[in-house]
Amino acid sequence: MSFRAVDPDSGAIQEADWFHERRKKVGLCEVCNSEIELRAETSIGTSIHFWHGKGSSCPTIKKNRKKYEDLPATQVDKESGKALRQKVKDNAYLIYACCSAIVDGLKYPEFKELVAKATDKGIWDYKGLALNYVPYLLVTFHDMFYAKGSKLRDDRFYVILEPGINHLDDLWNQPGFIKQKIWKVSPEKGVLEEVDILDYLDPEPNWFKSAKRWLKI
Ligand SMILES: [Zn+2]
Repeated sequence: MSFRAVDPDSGAIQEADWFHERRKKVGLCEVCNSEIELRAETSIGTSIHFWHGKGSSCPTIKKNRKKYEDLPATQVDKESGKALRQKVKDNAYLIYACCSAIVDGLKYPEFKELVAKATDKGIWDYKGLALNYVPYLLVTFHDMFYAKGSKLRDDRFYVILEPGINHLDDLWNQPGFIKQKIWKVSPEKGVLEEVDILDYLDPEPNWFKSAKRWLKI
């Protein structure tokens, strides 16, 4: 189920209600680009939403979420892996802060587990992996971020990469083909937020970015 879609005419993301008010029946999924159909409520309590159709493999449907940590690499490079491990060690707090900013609060034990997962799978050795991708990658390895675990999170969500990705290193080695984005997806509400992958480590959460404008300095 999804509550927002790309308007095919303007390319802008709009809410299901917006489509309904304009009698538009079909939108495009912002993640897999396929047409999704607006469904009006069939019973009281079911609000207007988008439907992917039967057999869709879009990861906005929870059962389709890939275990990204299990995706293989096309190439490994042990030498650069060694250098990256050192960079991750040297920047561990910054990487933790970036992850925390992306997912609206991350507990240290959760972070520790994600790093251990990356190490177990040998992901540091994946050819071409640069430090700026590390936080985005780590948060995709987590099964579910619960609302209960954070003061800033209203909905539980998981994080996905573009559905076409078959090799993890395509994300950074094929930037022209694989969108440089991750999405936060709620099993109940669909896509909550699209997050751009930046080419630098950015530990500043969105709430702080907007709040700091009102600092009296
Ligand atoms: Zn989709």
